[in-house]
Amino acid sequence: MHPADWYGQHDVDLRTGVRATHLDTAAHRLTLDTGEELPYAKLLLATGSSARRIPVPGADLDGVRYLRTLADSDRLLADFSGGGKRVVIVGAGWIGLEVAAAARHHGNEVTIVEPQPTPLHAVLGPEMGRVFARLHRDHGVDLFTDTVVREFRGADGRVTGVATDQFAALEADVVVVGVGAAPNVDLPAAAGLEVDNGIITDDALRTSAPDVFAAGDVASSFHPLYGRQVRVEHWANALNAGPAAARSMLGQQVSYDRVPYFFTDQYDLGMEYSGLGGPGDTVVTRGNPDDGAFIAFWLADGRVTAGMNVNVWDVTDPIQALIRSRRAVPIAALTDADTPLERLAA
Ligand SMILES: Cc1cc2nc3c(=O)[nH]c(=O)nc-3n(C[C@H](O)[C@H](O)[C@H](O)COP(=O)(O)OP(=O)(O)OC[C@H]3O[C@@H](n4cnc5c(N)ncnc54)[C@H](O)[C@@H]3O)c2cc1C
Repeated sequence: MHPADWYGQHDVDLRTGVRATHLDTAAHRLTLDTGEELPYAKLLLATGSSARRIPVPGADLDGVRYLRTLADSDRLLADFSGGGKRVVIVGAGWIGLEVAAAARHHGNEVTIVEPQPTPLHAVLGPEMGRVFARLHRDHGVDLFTDTVVREFRGADGRVTGVATDQFAALEADVVVVGVGAAPNVDLPAAAGLEVDNGIITDDALRTSAPDVFAAGDVASSFHPLYGRQVRVEHWANALNAGPAAARSMLGQQVSYDRVPYFFTDQYDLGMEYSGLGGPGDTVVTRGNPDDGAFIAFWLADGRVTAGMNVNVWDVTDPIQALIRSRRAVPIAALTDADTPLERLAA
């Protein structure tokens, strides 16, 4: 992340290739896999998350890939380069869809298998899920929804196909599994910290143990805007929660209440999403999704909970201001492209 000499210049002792294996919160000590014990005054847990594994027969065959690390990415690039491979992707979430776009970009045949009725069903709901389904089908992807993977088949230790509840076998040279990420909580759970889909923290990023803080993918933090625990698996959260945790560790008053934000690029679609839409929310759009450029808003009780701008730019600030204002907004004004968003949040 920084040039090699940055760490020393800033009195940061960076140790790579070393795992923390045991945490003693009473003694304020962290044990490393080298056997060394590090005492601490304050401790930040930022252990991130890991790709969820799929528990089906054949999951350990060669050619079954995941994407979490740079090495995973380099391996996939080698698989895709030159094109002409049959790539089956398990899961139409963010990772699965971005990998599909990359595999198509390199000229491969791509099939996606997804148990839900649309891609991104849990995060965007059916209306916006259909936008992503059409995007990928328009780019030549075979997308099978409502379809569950049963088994990976192979020959000589290498994957050759994917059996589902709908098809005997989809032929595959490469399989990419993108079925979500799980927070890395073994260390804090064994130490007795409160853990429930991540390390539980308050809005100052303090865990249930004294002087221990958590941030990033691994933290499920109380979010003042939503009034509940929220775990965000996105880059902007890792970027912003780190400094907030540092201030909190230094004893400053902190209430971390950033509106969750992320982006994705797939083919010619670029989008940004702010907020947290819920499954019961109403979805309305400003602009027509068929035209390829629009803004979708999620509303609960007339208030905007989330906004997604697709191929429309420089609107993140007013969308986030709308969410933050918690103001009831007339749908007619929200969907009218001639009404400036800034005016609705003011
Ligand atoms: C393929 C991919 C694409 C993504 N694309 C986007 C995107 O387009 N937009 C977006 O907003 N977000 C994206 N994300 C998510 C974003 O990368 C993560 O939210 C972010 O990296 C989380 O940062 P973090 O520091 O919390 O955790 P991580 O980046 O996971 O870092 C955690 C670190 O802790 C280390 N660690 C774990 N356990 C221990 C231990 N016991 N001892 C010592 N060290 C340990 C790990 O090795 C790792 O280096 C993507 C993620 C992936 C995998």
